[in-house]
This record gives sequence, structure tokens and C-alpha cells, in this order.
Amino acid sequence: IGEGILNKFVYSFNEGNKDMRSLLGGKGANLCEMTKLGLPVPKGFIVTTEACTDYFNNNKKVSKSIKDEILEKLTYLENVTKKKINDAKKPLLLSVRSGAKNSMPGMMDTILNVGLNDRLAIEMTKETNNKKFVYDSYRRLIMMYADVVCNLDKKEFEKILDSYKREHNYQNDIELNGDDWFYITEEYKKLYKKLANKEFPQDIKEQLLNATAAVFNSWNNDRAIYYRKMNNISDSDGTAVNVQEMVYGNLNESSATGVGFSRNPSTGENEIYGEFMINAQGEDLVSGVRTPLSFKEFKKKMPKLYDEFCTYAKKLERHYKDMQDMEFTIMDNKLYLLQTRNGKRTPKAAIRIAVDLYNEGLISKNDAILRVNEKDIENNLHETFKTKELKEAKVITKGLPASPGAGSGHIYFTSEEAIKANKNNEDVILIRLETSPEDITGMNVSNAVVTIHGGRTSHAAVVARGMGKCCVCGCNEIEIDEKNRTMYVNKKKYKEGDLISVDGVTGNIYEGKIATEIPKFDKYYEEFMKMVYSVKKLKIRANAETLNDVSQSLKFGAEGIGLSRTEHMFFEDNKLYYFRKMIIATTKEERIDALNEIKKIQIKDFEKIMKKLNGLPITVRYLDPPLHEFLPKTANELKKLSKELKCSEKSLERRVSELKEFNPMMGLRGCRLLIKYPEIIEMQTESLITAAINIEKKGIKTNLEIMIPLINDVEEFIFIKNIINKVANKLFKENNYKIRYKVGTMIELPRACIKAADIAMEADFFSFGTNDLTQMSYGFSRDDSSKFINTYIENGILQCSPFESLDISGVGELINIAVMKAKCIKPNIKLGICGEHGGDPKSVMFCHYIGLNYVSASPYRIPVAALAAAKAQIFSQNFL
Ligand code: PEP
Ligand code: MG
Repeated sequence: IGEGILNKFVYSFNEGNKDMRSLLGGKGANLCEMTKLGLPVPKGFIVTTEACTDYFNNNKKVSKSIKDEILEKLTYLENVTKKKINDAKKPLLLSVRSGAKNSMPGMMDTILNVGLNDRLAIEMTKETNNKKFVYDSYRRLIMMYADVVCNLDKKEFEKILDSYKREHNYQNDIELNGDDWFYITEEYKKLYKKLANKEFPQDIKEQLLNATAAVFNSWNNDRAIYYRKMNNISDSDGTAVNVQEMVYGNLNESSATGVGFSRNPSTGENEIYGEFMINAQGEDLVSGVRTPLSFKEFKKKMPKLYDEFCTYAKKLERHYKDMQDMEFTIMDNKLYLLQTRNGKRTPKAAIRIAVDLYNEGLISKNDAILRVNEKDIENNLHETFKTKELKEAKVITKGLPASPGAGSGHIYFTSEEAIKANKNNEDVILIRLETSPEDITGMNVSNAVVTIHGGRTSHAAVVARGMGKCCVCGCNEIEIDEKNRTMYVNKKKYKEGDLISVDGVTGNIYEGKIATEIPKFDKYYEEFMKMVYSVKKLKIRANAETLNDVSQSLKFGAEGIGLSRTEHMFFEDNKLYYFRKMIIATTKEERIDALNEIKKIQIKDFEKIMKKLNGLPITVRYLDPPLHEFLPKTANELKKLSKELKCSEKSLERRVSELKEFNPMMGLRGCRLLIKYPEIIEMQTESLITAAINIEKKGIKTNLEIMIPLINDVEEFIFIKNIINKVANKLFKENNYKIRYKVGTMIELPRACIKAADIAMEADFFSFGTNDLTQMSYGFSRDDSSKFINTYIENGILQCSPFESLDISGVGELINIAVMKAKCIKPNIKLGICGEHGGDPKSVMFCHYIGLNYVSASPYRIPVAALAAAKAQIFSQNFL
């Protein structure tokens, strides 16, 4: 039966399965699946996401037929649990929880203990002789109901409890007795009446239906909307509502609540991992109000139940073929599973788990590759503190390492302040007592997050891990004074804005700023990347022009250099001098003088790079300096340069103004500069061919590709190619040595795409310069468009910046045209891309599909590009 075709809006747990996520939500579908597997799941039913859509379409009303279905299933639940609502002997109390198709941890609302009222509380107290438990549960219900259903201020309720605890000298909630909780319950009811202008509802069906509607509403709270935007989740999905019989981890000392993972979510190690709390409810664990115990303690204190949990964890992992994150409750020595889902994990763990599951034969190589997100790879290249600096740094306190990475920044105690500071380009660290979902925006802009309360499964930890953000929890030694914007660590005062550093791997917090570095790869990363490289077809090259960058690229897995921007070889001060001299030269002689100096530098640099590459291809792009980037802009710069170049300020000013362009991006650059000053072509060819001959004479292979920028017509290309060939032949004769080289072009202008067939007759290869191609297709200046692109995105005119991810239907179509035309002329013509899009996963996939041979990306994006290329290969295999 397909999802939802029966027009049925409520399903019991034995009516669904794991594949019904869209209809039943992830949590609901998995509760059904666990029920099917015979695992101990508290019984319940699910109000579907379609009911949620119906609710919103119906002016936020639960329609009569859905209400009837819910109440019908309530009767069913009474029958299967052999419990009854409003019955003190066998009371049926309910949890009402959200559960969307895509997991949105902590973003929506939950109401527990639905089904309690004044009369039942009195009778249950008599029946159970456990006033403490009954009224602790009742006051929780009132507060959650007030908050979630009536939108009353939760803090007002918390104040009552806090001042009561202070007056009675209680440190922890667990110390309050039955009379205390009775008192608090009465006070809560009074406050509820005062704020809501009505009594707390005593009708249980009313409680349930209102709670269901409130959970539907929580789909559209601000934090849920923000989370969906961040994670590309559709706003129209809606949430399901899971209604389940309550089981209590806070019944007595033989009860507990916990969160467990079938593998370690931080490291990926194959060990059962988790946290738990005796005599507590799930909320206590997730909110981080009390610091939980480790699973070592679980094993020690409840060995049989621990073993039982481990058996279920492994069974579920084998069933789902992925690491599971499970919530459980122990009530009076009986274990219940409340939830299972594929666990969120750190990027490092994601890679290790994929590799291990593959090696254990649970998943295929392709599945292992698909399991790892490009972001995981990117984040695996996360910074760590430099060892030397770290040794000298002073540890001020330590917490639980909750999410890896290393971050330095100025401390802020509220998300609001952190966001403000970040807007002023400050590096920030967010320090909170505990985070709540409202803090998500603050966390997002912070280099690291620190919480005083809570453990590795607290909200801060789970959300930070998902974001790949450095996070340390449970820093009990920090005392925050939010009002005075200060914190004390072992009596030492730190003010808002002070600098600290946070290590998400050790949990150490340091004073001041510590320099960071990119980590070395572990064996799982190496193994994973081997799998990626064995699957992908697209070659991955690097955009690099310094020896350092070339070496780094090779370490990251580059299979050649796809773009060496020669003008970038002059960014160091001593080299820049000659380069500027060449630019401002007014006569050919002056220019040739400067070029001769440049030639010497280039020969040396190319020799080093070619030696390093040892026969791997290198595409060297001839000079394409947008002139404005190299000319002085201010009077001071002009003065400085005139001194350096030993010319008068006046003459320099005159030359600069001659060279000034209204549209430098469309001005004297690329092949136009080369055609106007052919001596540049001669110099570059001489340096490259000389370097290659020198290297080959030492017995090292070369694989040289000369690339001409910004071509719009084949005639430009022929003009330049002829000069290159003439100079190369002259050098071959002089040296009595010949090397092989190719001459190709960048395709960066829409006209070049249209004229691609003509150009392909002459060019050995094309490399799509999609930075310029995007600029010239949209007519958006690369330098100025940031002023309006965000407005475009905010207004939905653009989904994202076309400079970041290739505009597949527009610019992509131009590339497609060029590819088809070029292949008609030369079926084997080598085709690549070297614009920034070469490191963007979506764009890389597009390049695979249209049949390019390689993508070229900046060094740190090479592993990401490789993963995207492997995925593209897997998808196209699956498709065919
Ligand atoms: C491009 O235009 O895409 C390109 C790679 O060249 P540059 O960014 O140097 O203009
Ligand atoms: Mg360009």
C-alpha cells in the first residue's frame, strides 16, 4: 500500500515501517520498524505529516475526521496497553512528540505526561504511594503544556522552582520530596491560570488534541524554520506527531534514561557509546541540566540491562546497515527503546564508520562512498592547534570534548552578542550555561561553542557535531555572570570580548589565541580516499602556481595542475617589482628589460614545479592580470611605487592614468594584452620551454600545456599560437633538444562557446574559465556583484551565487554547447574546468555528466571534488 493513499491520518506502530518516513516522519517510521523487529517499544500511534498539512490548510484546525481517528486510536492504545486514561489503577499517560521526515533535533516541541489531572494525581498518589513521582510528573506536564500549547513564558515557571529550591537549600531537583512537588504543582497551576486566564485543562482528550495541534504548530517556530533553511529541508514537509504510552525513567532508583550509539559518534570507533542518568527523564538528559554518567557506569550499575541494550544496538545497526543513535528508558528494571535513527557523527567518525562498515561486509564500496558527505571531507581537514604554540598555552579549565576542531576567539555569553561581534568581523566563541535551540544562529557564527552544563549528547553537542563545529560541554568550573557580561574560572575574571581558545578533541580551554593548522590524515581517511579514487572517472587537478601549493595539492591527491595563473607567481615583493615595471613600461625596450628579469624568475620557478610534478600535466596560463589589481590605488601607494621604480611621481601618475580602465575586467587583459605586447608571449614561451628542456635533460619527464586566456575568436588564438611555436622551435634548435607541448585555450566568454568549433580546429584542449564565463554571461562584475547578489538571494531571484555554484541551466548550457561543438571537430579533445566551480560538488557532478576530462580546484578543495566526482560516477552507473 502506497503512503497515504487510504486517506488515513493515524497509524498504530504495527501499521507502518521504516520506508514510510515521508508520511510517518523518521521517528514514527522507525518506531514501527522496531515494533516489527520485536524490540521493546512503548506502544503508540502516529498522526501523519499529511494530517499536519491538513491542519495548516484548515486554518490551523485539527479537522473532525482526524480528531475522530486520534480518539479511536486512543481507545486502541488503551486496549493494547491494558491501561486506561483517567484511571488511577492502570493510568495511561502519554508522550506527544514531533517527528519530521528529516531529523531536526530539538527544533520542534514535545509534551510529556499528558493524561494527568488533579483527581488522577490524588488517586495515583494513594495507589502508588509515590507522591514525589506523581507530582514531579504533573508539574512537568503543566510547564510543558503552558510553554508549548499556550506559549506562556517558561521562565516564569522556572523562577518558581528556582526560588523554592533556594529557600529550602536544595541543589538538585532530585532532592525535592512529594510535598515539595505538590506545592510546586499548585503554584504552577496558579501561575498558569494567571497567565492563560483559564484553569489548567482537566479533560484528557482536550489535553491530547491540543498537544497534537501544538506540535504541528512547532513545525513553523523560528528555530525550526532557520534549521530547515540551513539544511535545505522543504518547508512543506510538515511534522508527524508520535503519541506513545509514557514510560518513566524517574520512577525510582531502578529506573534511568539514556542515549546510546552503536558506535562512537566522535571517533567512529566500533564501541557502544552513550550517556545515561539514573532516576531521570529524557528531558533532563537532553537539556543538559544535570551532567550524565558514562556507559562505563551503566555497565557497572546495571550490567544485565547494559548487555540487553548492546544486543539491541547491534541488531538495529545490522538491520539499518548504519550507526544508530538510540534513546532508551529503564522503568523499574525494564528496558524500553524510545527511538532509533541513523546517528549524527563527526566528519572523522563519518569516514571511519563508512570504511569499517564496508570492511565488515555490511555495505558496498559505492554505498560507503555515498555515506560520506562532501562537508565531512571538508571538515575532516579541520584545524587543530599548532603543537608548539599549544605547549606554551595555559589551560584554564577543561570540559567534555563534544565536537572536534579547534577555535580561538573573543568570548560572548549570548547568541545575540556573538552575532553582533561576528558582523564586525570578530572571531567569536559562544559560552552558554547550556544551549537551547534558540542558540543555533549564535552557534553558527562562532568558532567554537562552550557550555557549562550538559554532556556529549546535550543539545549543544549534537547540534555542533552536525554543524562540524568545535564544541566543549560540561565545563563546570566556569561561572557565568550574564548580566555583567563576565565569567569566572577558578576565581579569575574574564570579560566579554576576552580571547580564549577551545579544543574540541581534548576538551581543554586555553587563555588567549593559539595558532591553528590543518591536521594530518588518519588511515581511515586514506583508505576512504583510495576508494573514492578507485571509483571516480573524472581527473582532479589543482589550481596552483607556487611550489608550496603544488606540493600541498599533490598531498591532497591532485592528478596534475589544471591552472597555473602566471601573474600569481609575482605576488611576493621582490618579484612584484619587475612585474609592475613591465606593466608601466612606456616603450618596448623598457618592457623587454623588465620581461628579461621576469624570465629569469619564471624559469627557476617552473623548473622547481615541473620537477615536483615529475611528468604530471601542468596547464600554464599566460599572463592575464586585470591591470587594476597591480596598479597603485592611493597617493601613498603611488609615492611608494615611484620610489621603488625610481621614477618621478608625476610620470608614474600619468602612466597609471593612461592605463586606467572603466571596465578593467573587460579591458586590456587576457589574450588582448598578449596580442598588444607579443614580447610577453615570447618571454613566457622562452621561460617555459627552457625550464622544460632543463628538467628533461636531468631525466625528469614534463607534460606541458600552454593555455591562452580570454579567447573569443580563433584568429586571436592563431596569432598567439604562431608566436609560441616560432619561439619554441628556435629554442629546440638552439638546445638541440625537443619537448612535447600542447597549446590550448580557456573558454571564458560566451562568444567563445558559440565559436567553439572554429577554436577546436586549432586548440589542443579547452579549459572552461567559469569565473569569467559567469561574469560575462550574467553581466555581473566579479568585483562588484557581491553588493547585490545577497539581495537577489533574499528575494528568491537567485538560489545561490552563480560564482559559487555553477548556473547549470544558463552558463552550464553554454559549456554544453561548446563541448558538443568541440567534440564534433575533435572527438578526443581534452576538456576541463578551472574556474572556482571546479571545487563545488554540484558543479563537479555537472562536469562529469557532460563528459569533461578533469576539474581543477584550489588545493584544499581537491578531496571534496574527488568525492563529488566519485558520487557522480556512482549515480550515472545506477542510472544506466
Ligand atoms: C576563470 O575566469 O574562471 C579563471 C579560472 O580565470 P581567472 O579567475 O584567473 O580570471
Ligand atoms: Mg578568467
